[in-house]
Amino acid sequence: MTELYSLVDIAPTIAKVIGIPLPGVDGNVIPELVDRLQRCDRAILIIVDSLGYLTYQRLSSCMPHVRGATIRCRAVANHTTPAIASILSGCYPHTHGILTNADVLTSSIESILERAEECGIRSAVVIESKGAAAMKTKIDLSLGVPDSRDILDYDAKIRKYSIDLLKHKPVLMTIHFRAIDRYAHEKRSFDELKSAAESIDDHIKEICRHIDRNTGVIVCGDHPIHGRYAEDDQDVALVILDHIE
Ligand SMILES: [Zn+2]
Repeated sequence: MTELYSLVDIAPTIAKVIGIPLPGVDGNVIPELVDRLQRCDRAILIIVDSLGYLTYQRLSSCMPHVRGATIRCRAVANHTTPAIASILSGCYPHTHGILTNADVLTSSIESILERAEECGIRSAVVIESKGAAAMKTKIDLSLGVPDSRDILDYDAKIRKYSIDLLKHKPVLMTIHFRAIDRYAHEKRSFDELKSAAESIDDHIKEICRHIDRNTGVIVCGDHPIHGRYAEDDQDVALVILDHIE
């Protein structure tokens, strides 16, 4: 796929697939993604922190379960909170105005998860505790993992809680894994970066074992990677997973 999309296009695309009204957003529907997901009535959006487009290419041999149609998306912010707010709302940062978790409570722009809840579509979120707390009043199924120095353990808890919440059959679920981003910030070796990618790949594989065939699994980055591996990585990867049997 050669056309360049944006992270703000993800929410309107998922909204179209699942049937959630999402008027007034900045993004547009990605037709190729709708085609791929046309048989899906549920979706899981897995945000892999710092999964830039070229970073995904470099790490893809360590992520054998993150395979499928790959779309190159323009990033909208260099930092996690505004970027994830854009992914979930379909709006640019200057529209949603969310720079910190506290802003989630005051922003007039709602996420696709909140819009889903409002029309009776059950949604779920498994993210860092402070972010989860900010969304807890608005979303039925919300679990947070406290930030940790041991980021591999943190991601393992995200996986466990995600599998726990899948038992409640959410129609839309969002998860956030962070090990690649943390290792990049800590200036770890490329081999260590690869081990972070392998651990996230294993989490995604296990999560996919707990979903049915009608669940579309979408993996995306939130912003290009920071630090010495950034090089010319300016865009973000978006992968619609082929089903793992
Ligand atoms: Zn991030």
